[in-house]
Amino acid sequence: MIEKKIKLGISTCLLGENVRYDGGHKLDRFLTDILGQYVEYVPVCPEVECGLPIPRESMHLEGNPESPRLITSRTMQDMTERMVSWAEKRVVELEKEGLCGFIFKSDSPSSGMERVKVYNEKGMPVKKGIGMFARIFMEHFPLLPVEDEGRLHDPGLRENFIERIFTLKRWREVLTRKENRGNVVDFHTKHKLLILSHSPKHYQTTGKLVARAKELSLREFYQQYQILLMESLMLKTTPKKNANVLQHMMGYYKEQLSSDEKQELLEVIEVYRKGYTPLIVSITLIQHYVRKYDQPYLKEQMYLNPHPLELQLRNHV
Ligand code: SF4
Repeated sequence: MIEKKIKLGISTCLLGENVRYDGGHKLDRFLTDILGQYVEYVPVCPEVECGLPIPRESMHLEGNPESPRLITSRTMQDMTERMVSWAEKRVVELEKEGLCGFIFKSDSPSSGMERVKVYNEKGMPVKKGIGMFARIFMEHFPLLPVEDEGRLHDPGLRENFIERIFTLKRWREVLTRKENRGNVVDFHTKHKLLILSHSPKHYQTTGKLVARAKELSLREFYQQYQILLMESLMLKTTPKKNANVLQHMMGYYKEQLSSDEKQELLEVIEVYRKGYTPLIVSITLIQHYVRKYDQPYLKEQMYLNPHPLELQLRNHV
């Protein structure tokens, strides 16, 4: 069976399309050549799709950073209504795409997801705005993973985003099957340690929810689980949280590991926790024991394999 790719929305110019105001693009090779192997992109260029030409006058945000206006920089035309009415329709269309996330172009008054310049009445910028389309998109899909290409250069943010989109894809596969509490329980069992690595609190609450699944209607159970899952993954993993998960996994080998092996594993985890080695080193050693001792619960943990190795994540300190 050919695996379906993850569907992600993306600002069109990041794919190398010449849609920018100056007729250029902002091709990002990581997004096209590397992540692009696993992803089917749904391009969205708010400025072109709302009917503006290429090339066109550049624009900026001005006024209150909470609800700024979108103004062309030379002739000072107000494009706010045009952009908002297009964006409100476009997000409804995008519901049908089954997106697992969106990658925005940073700093754009239309597409930037944070810290976009907003000019005050004196013409001074503050970096507190959100691009007009990005704001409407994020309000419409509050639980969807979103990032911009600039933030994705940070290894930790990149890892977190990719982990979220792959997890959401696996969850969406559960949603394509007939509704059944057992399918959610099975998904949860495989994702327990991944959830723990993001949020010990959500590890507890998802566990409690699954335990009382029969008290809820199927619809409520699915909805509540999805919200908790997405909320947990929004919280970043840290070396401390990961070290906690690794030690938790070690607990499954109490009987099998020799004292030397235990000592070695503890040392490897501690060196990682202190920031001297990347997570992949500890994970590789744990995977070695998972194979060697054939531990069935750990073998199926997505935490050990949340995304393709080729993306070279978890290898930064
Ligand atoms: S930043 Fe957004 S509006 Fe501007 S060219 Fe790229 S996709 Fe289009």
